[in-house]
Amino acid sequence: MYDVIVVGSGAAGIMASITAKRTKKSVLLLEQLPNLAMKLKATGGGRCNLTNTLQKNLFMEKFGKNGRFLNDALNAFSSSDLVTFMKNIGVDTHALDGFRIFPVGHNSQTIIDALIHKLEKENIEIQTNQKVISVVKKNDIFEVQTEKTRFQAKALIIATGGKGYEKLGATGEGYEIAKNLGHSITKLYPAMMPLFVKENWVAECTADTIGKASLVVNLKKYHTKKAVGDLIFTKNGIRGPVVLDFAREITPLFDDFSEIPIIVNLIKEKDENYLIELFKKETTKTVLDVLEEILSKSITKALCEFYKIEWNLEYKKLNGADKTKLLQILTRTPLTISGNEGFKLAMITRGGINLKEINSNSMESKVVSNLYFAGEILDIDGPCGGYNLQWAFSSGYLSGCLK
Ligand SMILES: Cc1cc2nc3c(=O)[nH]c(=O)nc-3n(C[C@H](O)[C@H](O)[C@H](O)COP(=O)(O)OP(=O)(O)OC[C@H]3O[C@@H](n4cnc5c(N)ncnc54)[C@H](O)[C@@H]3O)c2cc1C
Repeated sequence: MYDVIVVGSGAAGIMASITAKRTKKSVLLLEQLPNLAMKLKATGGGRCNLTNTLQKNLFMEKFGKNGRFLNDALNAFSSSDLVTFMKNIGVDTHALDGFRIFPVGHNSQTIIDALIHKLEKENIEIQTNQKVISVVKKNDIFEVQTEKTRFQAKALIIATGGKGYEKLGATGEGYEIAKNLGHSITKLYPAMMPLFVKENWVAECTADTIGKASLVVNLKKYHTKKAVGDLIFTKNGIRGPVVLDFAREITPLFDDFSEIPIIVNLIKEKDENYLIELFKKETTKTVLDVLEEILSKSITKALCEFYKIEWNLEYKKLNGADKTKLLQILTRTPLTISGNEGFKLAMITRGGINLKEINSNSMESKVVSNLYFAGEILDIDGPCGGYNLQWAFSSGYLSGCLK
């Protein structure tokens, strides 16, 4: 019999185990994969953007309507607490852009090695290749059944993550276990992944990264759903940092719409007047050459060919209708989102354990005493930029305090 069993060895589960060990004698950490923290390893493209420098209230705002739920967890374990914790276990961090915090050396493995070292130093028992398949509570004791073994504990912390990137351990059993213990799960959506578009001209533009592109949903009542950042075209859609946050906002819209029209500004949010002035300055150059200052030639060509505008003419030689069309497609390029990659490539899951059933000041279930949740399994998700890992560490910490 253990004092505490923690299920899942992501940021949340590891942090919960380390914290629980401060007050409890025996802590068992169960992980279904052969190695710990596989998703943490993949974060930030292997560089691990573990948190950011944003002040607490602004940080919470970024999580949307459920943001206030983070308050107690962030009070218990803030971004600067995380940085100090990392330093104490031997990982120096920095924020080169003044915002996103990474380990110096930009290698997520340094964090994982330091966390494992800490788990071992604290004598926390770790069992890998132990997939939990069911949990029941009998006479105040949790009976935790894996595919191989049955364990017992007085308290249980479930930190099994979301459903995105199955190969990194996101198999979704945690939700079933929670349901069987009496919890409800809000609707789950894949979030932060590439999107498919209908327009096939994008296939000609896969070589460039478009800086500071802006994307906005072109549907009544949803114009507030927008994002700005680096955009990359794929052979059948769009990806890149701006798409990740945008996808997080729009996947729930597919409940009501089969396609989502959007408007993209590919020229760093410049407007038609800017373009008119540019063409006035460069009267002897072709449209293609003038636009090279703000847009790659492959994109200008693909767009012009799709809209039947002669890119190898000077702007002044275009007829009036083509001039208007050109200005419009450059500042307001229409695209139609036709679908997404689903959970396979979703960096985040939107939805999860219903927050109404969880005490935000402890992460304890209101349904089952001594049962706690932490991390992405809860109905909390933030944008790109270290928000989600900070949430995993903070909620992991708070749950590990065990009230
Ligand atoms: C490619 C990628 C890049 C990302 N980059 C960033 C980034 O730079 N910054 C950021 O803030 N966020 C990033 N995220 C999001 C972030 O990784 C997650 O929000 C965070 O890791 C969630 O932590 P967690 O501990 O809740 O869950 P996870 O890290 O998913 O850990 C859950 C663990 O539970 C285990 N498990 C699941 N079910 C069972 C079971 N039944 N029995 C036993 N074990 C089980 C899993 O194998 C897994 O190891 C990224 C995500 C991805 C996929």
